[in-house]
Amino acid sequence: MRYAIVSDVHGNQESLQHVLSTIADDDALVSLGDVVGYGPNPNECVAALRARAKHAVLGNHDLAAAENFGVENFNRAAREAIDWTQSVLEPSSREWLDALPYELRFPDFLLVHGAPVNYFEYILDKRAAARAFDATDARVVFVGHTHIAEYWARDTDGTIGHKHMQHGGELTLEPNKRYIIDVGSVGQPRDLNPQACFVWYDSERQVVRWNRYDYPIAEVQSKMRAAGLPAYLVDRLSVGR
Ligand code: ZN
Repeated sequence: MRYAIVSDVHGNQESLQHVLSTIADDDALVSLGDVVGYGPNPNECVAALRARAKHAVLGNHDLAAAENFGVENFNRAAREAIDWTQSVLEPSSREWLDALPYELRFPDFLLVHGAPVNYFEYILDKRAAARAFDATDARVVFVGHTHIAEYWARDTDGTIGHKHMQHGGELTLEPNKRYIIDVGSVGQPRDLNPQACFVWYDSERQVVRWNRYDYPIAEVQSKMRAAGLPAYLVDRLSVGR
């Protein structure tokens, strides 16, 4: 099976559209959450993923938009964007988001938004990666949440290796190692590359590929300005941080 794994779409319809136009009918589309928040097209992104995604898990912005849960932890811009998202979110979008599971476990991998068990924890260093490996027996964990394309690999002796995928790249999974694969962000990359990112996972060949791509950033930004979303959120798309 070939999986196309997206995360942190954040209402960025133009970027999601690029992914949808890239994948084939028999590819399995997977969403790791944060479909909404920040961006100008939450309903369109929900509709597209509801129609096409084979598997989807819940993100913290999805939960905030649907239930107003956790907004006290959001910074001012994120909170303003959630207020706006709630004001335009259609009931059917809210229902779909609200029904998403925190995790999905399959024989060979686990899907969560941020980390196993502590679903909205950020894996940003080796200590957090070690905690995440200890929290599950899944050999491969796919995550998003940080908006940083990267991976963590744990060897049989417990050593953890790490690599950024700021400009994309490929990884062949070794059978004796465990992995946390951060697929980066479709809607708001934060690893100093404004190109969006999603991951291909070929389960037969055991190959993971981070795909960085251009999308019409200026179009999304003008929609965000028209919607009155915070300038900080508009500007960061151009610089990828
Ligand atoms: Zn996010």
